[in-house]
Amino acid sequence: MLIPLLQQATRCRVRPWDGLASPKTLREFQRTFADEAACAHYLAACRWPDGFRCPRCGHDRAYVLTSARRWQCAAPGRRYQTSLTSGTVLHRSKTPLTTWFWAAYLMTTDKRGVSALLLQRQLDVSYKTAWLLLHKLRRAMVAPERKKLRGVVEMDETWVGGLQTGLRGSRQLRGRKAALLIVAVERRGTATGRARMDVIPDFTQKTMTAFACANIEPGTTIITDKMTGFNGLTAAGYVHQPAKQGKIIEDSDHVVPLADRAMGNMKQWLLGTFHGVSREQLQVYLDEFVFRHNRRGNPQAAFQTLLGLGTGRAPAPLSIVRGASDLPQFPIRP
Ligand SMILES: [Zn+2]
Repeated sequence: MLIPLLQQATRCRVRPWDGLASPKTLREFQRTFADEAACAHYLAACRWPDGFRCPRCGHDRAYVLTSARRWQCAAPGRRYQTSLTSGTVLHRSKTPLTTWFWAAYLMTTDKRGVSALLLQRQLDVSYKTAWLLLHKLRRAMVAPERKKLRGVVEMDETWVGGLQTGLRGSRQLRGRKAALLIVAVERRGTATGRARMDVIPDFTQKTMTAFACANIEPGTTIITDKMTGFNGLTAAGYVHQPAKQGKIIEDSDHVVPLADRAMGNMKQWLLGTFHGVSREQLQVYLDEFVFRHNRRGNPQAAFQTLLGLGTGRAPAPLSIVRGASDLPQFPIRP
């Protein structure tokens, strides 16, 4: 049964990838990942950085079954196959690896990110394929084991969308057409460290404290404005500093200037790249923004993470992605 495949397979060792160097330009990327075999080889090099090891018997040689995206152990009498895409966001996808790689590359290197419309044009795929690719990649952006924020953290609340004419500032929250958001940003001197953003149901103490506990290391100093929703932080084990309006950081009148800036950038990005997003999918767009923000110094790591390498995260099927049923949803009051 395997014979037809084996005839076209070649016996080889994993060539160590060139330090998994990141292609610096689009042209370089095209050359590096020109075809399915090159992409498959990259996946193999990520999986076995020290060379192939059969997970069953430890043998170090394999047949490459490029068309099946698998490697088969070459030990005499054994035929154990390892899928190159298992445990990654690409698993069981019929889309060519080259398309996946392109999408991941554009998503990690372009600061603005890409829309499905742009990807459709650039990769010559259907809109549906482009949309699904991007959403599957976005779902690979939250590593289950990611480390919590620490040190000094700014936390602030905001909202997006639901613009109601004639209402200003927090009056926009009347009738709650907007989506509520919470953001936390590490303060490293006057610079911004890692960030987290979540869609939340309300600004209550319970919600704010739960967000902090899920995202911020206990004992961390948390700076916020004086909103009462933050009052549970001390009891939850944080050093809470509710600040008055005033100069916390030189040259800034904001209580939480870094959180403000991060939220401003995020809102601009949502508007500029997507011209607004649906409320159901908002959380994955926040995840995308945070993902790129947290890896802005290391696009190579971002590229690898995005292809699901080492995250062990199973890809979400279309039915779930389309309805966003794997995301937390909060009732919107009319
Ligand atoms: Zn084996």
